[in-house]
Amino acid sequence: MNYERFDHDIQWTKKSIFLVNMSKEITPYFSQLASDGIEKYLAQGKKICILVNKKWYAGGIICHACGSIPKCKHCSVSISYHKIESWETIGLCHICKTQYNVPTTCPTCHSTKIKNFGLWTQKVAEYLQNEYHQDALIVESETVNSPNKIKKITEQISQHQIIIWTSLLATPPNNINFDLIIFLNADLGLNIPDYTSAERNFYFLYEAFVKHPTANFIVQSFNPDQYSIRNACRMSKEKFYKEDNTFRNVNGYPPFGELCVILYKNEIEESLYTKVDTLHKDLLYLKEKYELKDIEIYSTPPLIYKMFGKYRYNIILKWPNVRQFMDIIFTKLNLAKKGFKVDWMAETIV
Ligand SMILES: [Zn+2]
Ligand SMILES: [Zn+2]
Repeated sequence: MNYERFDHDIQWTKKSIFLVNMSKEITPYFSQLASDGIEKYLAQGKKICILVNKKWYAGGIICHACGSIPKCKHCSVSISYHKIESWETIGLCHICKTQYNVPTTCPTCHSTKIKNFGLWTQKVAEYLQNEYHQDALIVESETVNSPNKIKKITEQISQHQIIIWTSLLATPPNNINFDLIIFLNADLGLNIPDYTSAERNFYFLYEAFVKHPTANFIVQSFNPDQYSIRNACRMSKEKFYKEDNTFRNVNGYPPFGELCVILYKNEIEESLYTKVDTLHKDLLYLKEKYELKDIEIYSTPPLIYKMFGKYRYNIILKWPNVRQFMDIIFTKLNLAKKGFKVDWMAETIV
């Protein structure tokens, strides 16, 4: 069997959570268990919600001649494309919200071989149409942002048996009763190289389980042994925090180690490198001078390198005595005046 089952009693209702190991599955979107589940629940006239983790699944466009992907003019993220109601497609930057038209030729090489590489939600909808003859309703959660829109979407949801809900960290409203909720890929949030990603991924799953006490869940994951996913399926905060604390302790992350992130932004890429490099060297010199051997200092680009037209770079200081070291830094180097932004108690390193 490619899955494990976790049974729970919540508010006197029984719920089962199935954790599926996707690395052993052959089909692209749905595991065998999910396919069987969809068939069974549809036949019983029940309601199904398919959760697609938005940020990583948004559709994009790629040039088949040169391989380039159109990016936002102000941010180093690719433009994602959404079909809007009229079946018209628009491009959107998820950072600065600039809208773009769909290009007909490649902005880099001007080839016309520019193709969609996957409006995932659309493909899942097409798959459901072909396999089950079901007209699924796609709800993009960030477009449901006013009471009127919520009312409208709630009406539409009541008329559909399958809802594809795309969201980053928001789960569907809990006044809608779903019988089966499928997480298409539960571990995408873990791909963010940040020490808090496990915690966020845990709560993304955990809160959905709690908010929908009557629904059964299928959680598809390529990392079913990862502690945030497994303990979310167990619905155990204690077990999660026990393992997360071990991870943070071993790696020197808060609350066990101190972490400070120094961010620098510049519109000119070369100035960015020079400034960051100089500060990095100054910090290493001070570390040596004050014999703070255990401190780790490294520079790294953040997850999004360019934002609102500015390039960005981080210097990360980690492990014990960071605050003591920062006191020295503040008296020796005037960081604020040089344009460095210091986050003393960094919650995130990306
Ligand atoms: Zn942008
Ligand atoms: Zn091209």
